Amino acid sequence: MDRSATFMDALTEALGDKGVLRRSADMEAYLVEERGLYRGAAALVARPSSTEEVAAVVGLCNDHDIPVVPQGGNTGLCGGGVPDGGVVLSLGRMNAIRAIDPLNQTMTVDAGCILKNLRESADDAGFLFPLSLGAEGACQIGGNLATNAGGTAVLRYGNARDLVLGLEVVTADGRIWNGLKGLRKDNTGYCLKHLFMGAEGTLGVITGAVLKLFPRPKTRLTCMAAASGVGNVLALFGKARESFGDALTGFELLSGFGLGLVDKHIAGIRDPFRDRHPVYALIELTSPRVDEGMKNALEDFLGAAFEAETVLDAVIASSESQREELWAIRESIPEAQKHEGGSIKHDVSVPISRVADFIEKASQAVTAEMEGLRICVFGHIGDGNIHFNLTQPEGRDKRTFLDHWPRFNRIVHDIAVEMDGSFSAEHGVGRLKTGEMDRYKSSVELELMRSVKTALDPKNLMNPGKVLG
Ligand code: FAD
Repeated sequence: MDRSATFMDALTEALGDKGVLRRSADMEAYLVEERGLYRGAAALVARPSSTEEVAAVVGLCNDHDIPVVPQGGNTGLCGGGVPDGGVVLSLGRMNAIRAIDPLNQTMTVDAGCILKNLRESADDAGFLFPLSLGAEGACQIGGNLATNAGGTAVLRYGNARDLVLGLEVVTADGRIWNGLKGLRKDNTGYCLKHLFMGAEGTLGVITGAVLKLFPRPKTRLTCMAAASGVGNVLALFGKARESFGDALTGFELLSGFGLGLVDKHIAGIRDPFRDRHPVYALIELTSPRVDEGMKNALEDFLGAAFEAETVLDAVIASSESQREELWAIRESIPEAQKHEGGSIKHDVSVPISRVADFIEKASQAVTAEMEGLRICVFGHIGDGNIHFNLTQPEGRDKRTFLDHWPRFNRIVHDIAVEMDGSFSAEHGVGRLKTGEMDRYKSSVELELMRSVKTALDPKNLMNPGKVLG
């Protein structure tokens, strides 16, 4: 029997027929990502249902020198989960909440849990799991941790890695590291969990995690404030931090252009303001207490900002459905952009104090390069993460416009990095930005990263070609 038949037999024995997909129609969804930038190929898709089965798949791949591409919800948008041969290891069947410890305020979960379901399980148990992002109905917690996802509440609770106490990982040679400790203090050598988070599946497969839970908010206020420029939005952010401290949970930026696209293209969502303004802040305050005074405090805050001309107009959501409508505007911008043709995207971060300078400088630089370019800027301004997206000039051909992607990346990433920023804030590097790693990371940093990769995955079988290229 040849080696590939031996591999297939052993794999089918380990996972059963349900655990292996080989027909191209069954594999299709695992080979492409939503944006269509990448189409991959794979010998098969393995769908293990337990950590032991993951270990069996990875161990077999290691023995047969076959690359393994871990895949969660496949929402990453950077080609990180798209295979270039080998085996796709999909975590989707590992979707159990293993335990909730109310006093320790932790939940232990399988890596394949869909983020939205996991948030609902925390809610059912009387807690908040604060990681929240537009793709939460499809992305998995394993993918969130592997990309150190951000989202809308980073300002208050941190990125995905800040929400993890313990991790379970299958190593590149198929061993299981059980680091599922719910400890808030543990100074015992290198902190291995942080190596695997943000590694985008290049060092091992995350199979489980102990996550931090928080008190569920009993008071939540959401408002949208219009301003004449990003500088004023930043001033408003500074004042909001000063006035509300940790109650300030989200602070998002939207441009008038972005809101206009949503108003124009997304059914059921409309501009809550009478007039269109240059920029808007979407602000959310929460408290674990019933706080009757918070609404007055917010009104006073907005009143003072109006007096100071920092804010031009504002709306406060007065019901849960109005609150959802305001958030829907923010979350629908990427979808609305699709109706307007090609969009060249940048997911950058700069220190919060430099956000306005960055947007101004980058806007000047890109519009000088192409007449009619429309800038759709939005982002999590409370943590300096800007989605600086370029919508094609009206009437231009989408394909030829998208050919300019590398040229605009260069301009925008150079400016972000010059301002002590990052060319990849939250979506990860994947395949899309491996060239940028070479350009912007120091040789020392790259060498250290390569040493880690070689130590943990000496055969370069874990998601090869991603992150470090
Ligand atoms: P996948 O796309 O399947 O995989 C991403 C990477 O992680 C790949 O390299 C893959 O190999 C690796 N991986 C997946 N699972 C594992 C595992 N168990 N072990 C090891 N490696 C693994 N991202 C943000 O950070 N913030 C946002 O606000 C945000 N908003 C988004 C909104 C929309 C509409 C969309 C489509 C995407 C958004 N994203 C955002 C990007 C994406 O949703 C996140 O990066 C998400 O965390 C990826 O999870 P996933 O399960 O889909 O991972």
